[in-house]
Amino acid sequence: KAKKHLGQHFLNDENIAKKIADTLTEKGYDNVLEIGPGMGVLTKYLLEKNPKVTVMELDSESVTYLQETFPVEHIKLNTSKEKFTIIEGDFLKKDFTEIFDKQQVAIIGNFPYNISSQIVFKAIENREFVPEFSGMFQKEVAQRIAEKEGSKTYGILSVLTQAFYDAEYLFTVPPSVFNPPPKVDSGVIRLIRKENYTLPVDEKLFFRVVKTAFNQRRKMLRSSLKSFNLSDTLKEDPIFAMRPEQLSVQKFIELTHKIAQNNS
Ligand code: SAM
Repeated sequence: KAKKHLGQHFLNDENIAKKIADTLTEKGYDNVLEIGPGMGVLTKYLLEKNPKVTVMELDSESVTYLQETFPVEHIKLNTSKEKFTIIEGDFLKKDFTEIFDKQQVAIIGNFPYNISSQIVFKAIENREFVPEFSGMFQKEVAQRIAEKEGSKTYGILSVLTQAFYDAEYLFTVPPSVFNPPPKVDSGVIRLIRKENYTLPVDEKLFFRVVKTAFNQRRKMLRSSLKSFNLSDTLKEDPIFAMRPEQLSVQKFIELTHKIAQNNS
């Protein structure tokens, strides 16, 4: 019954569902948005703790299920219907700042694996409104997001996320607790927005530098970043003899600054 193209793997372990719902810190955000609630296994735990929960689900069958089930859940949980909103739609296509009228929204979910990096990128784009973000990914993706420099899996996703969020890998979840079980382990992470989440350099240039550098991750920066018209003096700067996986977020910011100066 699960729809593969929607990345549907339903969690069937209540303890893990509660544990995931509990990963959001209790900072009393006005809104919690759950992406891909499916049959609501996390949703009921989110409703217990948060003032307002909105869920966004692409699968109309799941939406119907939630509409039919949650009146009963509200009675069980002693919560009001006003707390809870169901939106049918594609998270990647919706302008959620419109839905929440630019209020702060903590995002959570057991995300469909096929679009999980896009979900993270969308949260990053909207970081002004997203103070916190937690949820389950394919383990490898979760690790990549939270990885520090020097590791093989450190890459674009790590740098672009950690430029704006503190990322923490929380725990691993085995395939056996899902229906149907996925082929790989899953990992749960939490991102907390940094106090200062604007970059001291041009953001577009920063994104371009990071992506271009990791596109040829085994090369030194002086060769992978050729297209940025580096001057001969700049190429002599020791930072350009490094490989992208050796650079911390801070170093990538410095690098971008140097490239910007070189081009001005
Ligand atoms: N949260 C449920 C659970 O833990 O059992 C379901 C998790 S399942 C891995 C992912 C869910 O995301 C599915 O219900 C799927 O229909 C939904 N989904 C897939 N693509 C989506 C999208 N673009 N926007 C919103 N929901 C989506």
